[in-house]
Amino acid sequence: MFVSDCISINEKGHLTIGSADTVELAKEFGTPVYVFDENEIRNNLRAFRGSIEENYGGRGLVCYASKAFSCKEIYRICKQENVGIDVVSGGELYTALSVGFPAENIVFHGNNKTPDELRMAVENGVGRIVVDNLTELERLNAIACEAGKTVGIMMRIKPGVDAHTHDFIKTGQIDSKFGFALETGEALSAVKAALGMPSLKLRGLHCHIGSQIFDISPFELAAQVMLGLYKQIKDETGTELEELNLGGGFGIRYVDGDTPVPYGEYMKSVSAVVRAETEKLGLKMPFILIEPGRSVVGAAGLTLYTVGAVKNIPDIRTFVSVDGGMADNPRYALYKADYQVICANKANEAKDMTVTVAGKCCESGDLIQENTKLQTVEAGDILAVLSTGAYNYSMASNYNRIPKPPVVMVNNGEARIAVRRETYEDVASCDV
Ligand SMILES: *Cc1c(COP(=O)(O)O)cnc(C)c1O
Repeated sequence: MFVSDCISINEKGHLTIGSADTVELAKEFGTPVYVFDENEIRNNLRAFRGSIEENYGGRGLVCYASKAFSCKEIYRICKQENVGIDVVSGGELYTALSVGFPAENIVFHGNNKTPDELRMAVENGVGRIVVDNLTELERLNAIACEAGKTVGIMMRIKPGVDAHTHDFIKTGQIDSKFGFALETGEALSAVKAALGMPSLKLRGLHCHIGSQIFDISPFELAAQVMLGLYKQIKDETGTELEELNLGGGFGIRYVDGDTPVPYGEYMKSVSAVVRAETEKLGLKMPFILIEPGRSVVGAAGLTLYTVGAVKNIPDIRTFVSVDGGMADNPRYALYKADYQVICANKANEAKDMTVTVAGKCCESGDLIQENTKLQTVEAGDILAVLSTGAYNYSMASNYNRIPKPPVVMVNNGEARIAVRRETYEDVASCDV
């Protein structure tokens, strides 16, 4: 019935998340508000970790891709759960370090890290910097040399496996701004260059083949292709790389009909491929890293809004306007992302209206969902949009000078603020 396991309905007919009544949460914290079920996040991290323990003897590291949802509290949770993290900017790195996140378990990505960001990563001892291109490779070597350090790196490879949604192709991926191409020989020559850099220690290679993927086969293919490259590297340089980072992209359920693979299944299949390929090619089994982002937090979060007005345009459509919109969730405006919408205070009632949920920004494209089924709603009702835990808060803006909503964490019915609501003073705080 609901796209997320942590969502239910209580005896009042109200929608709940992590056993907390969303109508009460809206009252207590105001709207719009992002709410997360902490246990769902922890369970997802444990499922990924457990799958590496079960299928790969624990010889791997789950690194939560924190661009999906970044704030101090999520880094604290990751630290407690003994997983690593990915960061993609100095801002994410700063936030993680500010709660004492162990730098060795941080992976730093990005196709154009600035010299300042690279220096910050080197000075703080980030365990793996994923190098995107030759200019960065040389720049990082110089920065590491200057700092008198040896820096652990991985290199981002375009394996030629491109998996976006339900189908995937094994070509075309060359046309991506991220990483070194495999087919052209660019990857191999970059690896050779890296092996000759005195201040860099090449720990292994990385690939990330897409997002919201429901299939296991593209991950299996990527592992196979990458190990082929490991064999080539061993043959041509005598060096056997220790680690293999297979990225993230595991799909979640946004609407009925989305069919995510249980998280444990990925490592089960992928480790079988790694075992078979390494044996065939005469390689050691590498230490494995995986980088789930959306799958850790996406279905663990929802957004609550208050309905401000219902505007029926006869024979055209009914707009339900809410007190948030593209400033807190730009994903429909960006790429028509699907969501399940529920009237939180009428969750037991039938969905007998077809509506467009509109935001409050001065932009016609500021919609949360079109032609979606909803209970009959009126001004003052609370709307819940489910599975907004990933790429919502982290993509939020102050468009129209709208303050960003707070983030509330729920744990067995108990709610606490993880990020407070922005004030107007916050919004204007950098203005001179
Ligand atoms: C975005 C990203 C991820 C996480 O992707 P999800 O689809 O959120 O799992 C992992 N690794 C890299 C390098 C990324 O850029």
